[in-house]
Amino acid sequence: MRFATRAIHAGQRPDPSTGAIMTPIFQTSTYVQSEPGKHQGYEYSRTGNPTRAALEANLASLEGGTHGLCFASGLAATDTVLKMLRSGDHVVAGNDLYGGTYRIFEQVYRPFGLDFTFVDASDPKNVEAAMTDRTKVVWIETPTNPLLKISDIAAISALCRAKGAISVVDNTFATPYLQRPLELGADMVVHSTTKYLGGHSDVVGGAIVTSDDSLFERCAYIQNAAGGIPGPMDCFLVLRGTKTLAVRLDRHQENAARVVDFLGDHSKVGRVYYPGLSDHPGHDVAKRQMSGFGGMISFTLVDDTEANARALVSRTKVFSLAESLGGVESLIEHPVSMTHGSIPREERLKAGLSDGLVRLSVGIEDADDLIEDLEQALG
Ligand SMILES: *Cc1c(COP(=O)(O)O)cnc(C)c1O
Repeated sequence: MRFATRAIHAGQRPDPSTGAIMTPIFQTSTYVQSEPGKHQGYEYSRTGNPTRAALEANLASLEGGTHGLCFASGLAATDTVLKMLRSGDHVVAGNDLYGGTYRIFEQVYRPFGLDFTFVDASDPKNVEAAMTDRTKVVWIETPTNPLLKISDIAAISALCRAKGAISVVDNTFATPYLQRPLELGADMVVHSTTKYLGGHSDVVGGAIVTSDDSLFERCAYIQNAAGGIPGPMDCFLVLRGTKTLAVRLDRHQENAARVVDFLGDHSKVGRVYYPGLSDHPGHDVAKRQMSGFGGMISFTLVDDTEANARALVSRTKVFSLAESLGGVESLIEHPVSMTHGSIPREERLKAGLSDGLVRLSVGIEDADDLIEDLEQALG
């Protein structure tokens, strides 16, 4: 079956006891056994829950993987991948990452003895040069947050395979509708389901998808041992979100293209960062590995200062000033003082993240209202 059909049906079937077409919210902690050890596949909800299992199967199908695991947040999924490592192990990561990912690497796992090197992963040669015989994981986001840089997933995955490292792609920005890293050779996909997969800004969650049995078993073991699981209600909400992923993203992209055109023509706008632009340095790779360019846009003003950016993001009315992304409603934010505040200024500037950068999560409202709103705010 094709993507939009699997989005609605994969992992789900009418409830056999009632015929309910939607997977019930199995709000239960435990399951009755007919004799010790004899049960119907579920013993305790940290280990497994039918609502969660439906979501895990759904996400595995959408990513083209064989195993899904769901977590209480995207960072709980990231945490689980890192817990497979040991003191002395080395991770090569992109230098333009979600701020919280950088924070858990540097502030939580470095003190446990993991070592991290951050490189501009938009050139695979930088990744290769940073890898050592201790490198166990290469971690990339593509497109990156917030600069929308593109990394070549196939090239980096091949590099990892040759050197015996695990390739992990945070696919939150693209979603499996636009990009499926496992099909390009990556070992693991990580998601914040809080964003496009949930899609309505009403739930926090995360996921891992893989086709590697041993990576799955290790992560499932850690999931159960450490317990960073989502509740059944949260799984239900994400499962409802994925059903409309294809139609929502079509509209997100259509609107983003309109906004990019508008910004490109505006005299007060400096640089526009969007992988769909033909002068974007990652445009060719994006065209090869994505089926669309997504709904995220970043830009600077001609007068690229923090004060100007802060003034702009405070003036929009349809775009709400907030962290997060990927919901039906449009959001605007200033990464330096909001989502990326935990990255030291020097590191930021090295990666090209200027003090005045503004990020948009373009929603699915009427594009004319979005453009009029940006027009009045820029005026
Ligand atoms: C939000 C986000 C995360 C973290 O996910 P949470 O659900 O907030 O824990 C990780 N990666 C990316 C790209 C994100 O946007």
